[in-house]
Amino acid sequence: MTARYDVVIVGGGHNGLTAAAYLAQAGKSVLILERLDTVGGAAVSAQSFDGVDARLSRYSYLVSLLPRRIIEDLGLNIRLKRRRYSSYTPRPGTDTGLLVDNAAPDRSSLGRDAAAWDSFYGGTGRLARALFPTVTEPLPTRSEARTALADDALWDSLIERPIGSAIESTFSDDLVRGVVLTDGLIGTFAPNIDDTLAANRCFLYHVIGNGTGDWDVPVGGMGAVSGELLDAARRAGAAIVTGAEVVAVTPDGEVSYRAGDDSVTVAGSWVLANVAPYVLEKLLDAGAPPRLARPEGAQVKVNLLLSRLPRLRDSTVDPAAAFGGTFHINELWSQLDAAYATAASGAVPTPLPCEIYCHSLTDPSILSPELRASGAQTLTVFGLHTPDRLVTAATNDARRAELQGAVVASLNSVLAEPIEDLLLTDTLGRPTIETKTTLDIEHALGMPGGNIFHGPLSWPFAEDDAPLSSAAERWGVATPHPRILLCGSGAQRGGAVSGLGGHNAAMAVLEAE
Ligand SMILES: Cc1cc2nc3c(=O)[nH]c(=O)nc-3n(C[C@H](O)[C@H](O)[C@H](O)COP(=O)(O)OP(=O)(O)OC[C@H]3O[C@@H](n4cnc5c(N)ncnc54)[C@H](O)[C@@H]3O)c2cc1C
Repeated sequence: MTARYDVVIVGGGHNGLTAAAYLAQAGKSVLILERLDTVGGAAVSAQSFDGVDARLSRYSYLVSLLPRRIIEDLGLNIRLKRRRYSSYTPRPGTDTGLLVDNAAPDRSSLGRDAAAWDSFYGGTGRLARALFPTVTEPLPTRSEARTALADDALWDSLIERPIGSAIESTFSDDLVRGVVLTDGLIGTFAPNIDDTLAANRCFLYHVIGNGTGDWDVPVGGMGAVSGELLDAARRAGAAIVTGAEVVAVTPDGEVSYRAGDDSVTVAGSWVLANVAPYVLEKLLDAGAPPRLARPEGAQVKVNLLLSRLPRLRDSTVDPAAAFGGTFHINELWSQLDAAYATAASGAVPTPLPCEIYCHSLTDPSILSPELRASGAQTLTVFGLHTPDRLVTAATNDARRAELQGAVVASLNSVLAEPIEDLLLTDTLGRPTIETKTTLDIEHALGMPGGNIFHGPLSWPFAEDDAPLSSAAERWGVATPHPRILLCGSGAQRGGAVSGLGGHNAAMAVLEAE
């Protein structure tokens, strides 16, 4: 006999766990099916290096968009630490750089762009305060969101026209322009002036989190966030099966999965897809022509464990300050422009634009007492403009090595010593550096094309003429099938570690019943 549940959730990422916790708390019978042996998806910590007791946030690493409301509703014990330094950016080819210190209201280091900086981020702050309170509510329409902002000129420059145009007309310094633009390029392959507005959507999600746009460090690493969600889902009574790969879903709620040698079918009154919409379409395959294009990620992720922080070419800045916020490397506006063109033509950009952050400076708890005492530090590098089209199954190993080399070279261009000299070694004598291409991420997590948001980000509002008759449509989680809802990064407003895909799918189910 087929086991029946009120809700079957395909995938145990942090969003699947969030949905399960809300729905089980509301009295629903909930089953999560997760393909891997552990839950959390891209929001996990791992001991990446054999025998080295450091638990790095393996994929995602900073939290901005997880609403206080979800933390409070689910009783999560999540601690997020604010970073004092916003960013440090060396000026390529010089021994100087730009440090943005949140504790210092004086913006004179920004030179002639100081006033523009305050006014630009004053504007994004107003946008954040207008939009963020809506993300845990049914979708506002475009007109309602615009009215809530109450500033048509600001709306037009951030929402209607390419964000690159706003940045280019607001700032004059190549470096400042580049630093500001990077928020539009994380996980999004787009040119500086992007007429498709994909960069605007990416930028928006990077500046509205919790009404401030701050990106905070999860104490204990990203695994601590998913761990709390797992506990909340379990406490509420959700059943969680790991090692269960879903292979088919029917529109009326039958879900078939493989667990070891067994094939099992269960049924849900609702099926929530924590997998990407593109993956869901394949699971639902009815022989119809595919509706969705295959997503494309555009990043390379490198984790390193160092014996200590490296010395910088810029001797005026303390490495603890430079690595204490987001450290931008080779991200001048002009470099980003050139890197996009190179990658679009099928080659790895040189120099590779990268951002780095050091988790252990803000939260050393991810290191063993011995590593901490020794002065060891973790670094997380997110390399931009490395689209999935550069990687194939046949070239993945060679590309991974090439991309790692490009990241190391980019890093070394701003250091006073080679980063390789600071790597520790694991039990087999291998250096403590781990590189993940888009294809590696697809293989590990099932994110198609290695796209970190499961696909293109959508606006956090509905178009004025969008159908909003069902609860699923109102909450931005609808699929072509009424009983199958999105509950992950691919839901409207779902991108990033936010729990919003899960929260909003759960609200749609509860509202519909
Ligand atoms: C390298 C990288 C860096 C990032 N950095 C950040 C960051 O710093 N901050 C931030 O906010 N966001 C970041 N992101 C994005 C963020 O991690 C994701 O958007 C978010 O974690 C997605 O969560 P999710 O629960 O929707 O899906 P996922 O985390 O993708 O979880 C989906 C789950 O479904 C499972 N699954 C897949 N297929 C099947 C199947 N057939 N059957 C059963 N289970 C299946 C997967 O194994 C996975 O556990 C990053 C992502 C990556 C990859």
